[in-house]
Amino acid sequence: MKLNSFKRILIKISGEQLAGEYEFGVDPKIANFLAKEIKKVVAGGCQIILVVGGGNMIRGAEVAGNGIKRVTADQMGMLSGLINSMCLTDIFESNGIQTRCLSNIYAEQVAESFSFRRAEKHLEAGRVVIVAGGTARPYFTHDTAAVSFALELDAEVVLKATKVDGVFDRDPAKYKDAKKLESITFDEAVSNNEIKVMDKAALGLAMEQNVPIIVFNPMKNDNILKVAQGNIVGTLIN
Ligand code: UDP
Repeated sequence: MKLNSFKRILIKISGEQLAGEYEFGVDPKIANFLAKEIKKVVAGGCQIILVVGGGNMIRGAEVAGNGIKRVTADQMGMLSGLINSMCLTDIFESNGIQTRCLSNIYAEQVAESFSFRRAEKHLEAGRVVIVAGGTARPYFTHDTAAVSFALELDAEVVLKATKVDGVFDRDPAKYKDAKKLESITFDEAVSNNEIKVMDKAALGLAMEQNVPIIVFNPMKNDNILKVAQGNIVGTLIN
């Protein structure tokens, strides 16, 4: 199956993926690899929005307790995403990619504030836009933020980065004979508890608004480029 190539895409990367072989923080090897891969896509004229999670530092539900409110813990999680985004912005720029970090949480000394118009302006100028700060609301995730920003900024597709090559019928880490699925419906993704690609709020929003999601592994040479050119490298959810 081949889709049309995309003009504007949103890529969602988890904090855990950015940490690579470390348990915490950012692995510069991963970040530099992603920069080089994204540079190829930008060179082809595709506009890129990036959302980076914060799970390599803080997940609100795990940190809450012992006097720390859930709301505060979630805000800490969103700030972790901002730290990752600041880090990626510099690494992308050092690779010669014009990049702007726009924060959805007020943090004007470290990043421009997110607004739809500002993001549009940067995208039209060919800059990569990294949107940080999640939805700015507790009890959500960066996956939900990613789908929401894809809608707001008219991205044609959400590319959800994973460590494996897509969605499998069973957990590929546990079952050697797990089969990769070329495409699944939103209904299957939501109702099958074996499939844990995104949280249900994110999937529900994408389903309701008809935003296709491609689950794929960005850590293989040219994979992001292939997906941007409309090749189904991983699994299409629509
Ligand atoms: N978070 C939040 N609202 C959002 C996005 C994230 O409260 O809109 C918090 C939540 O506590 C979450 C943490 O930030 O556990 C880290 O985000 P996430 O787990 O989505 O990161 P990822 O798994 O993508 O690295």
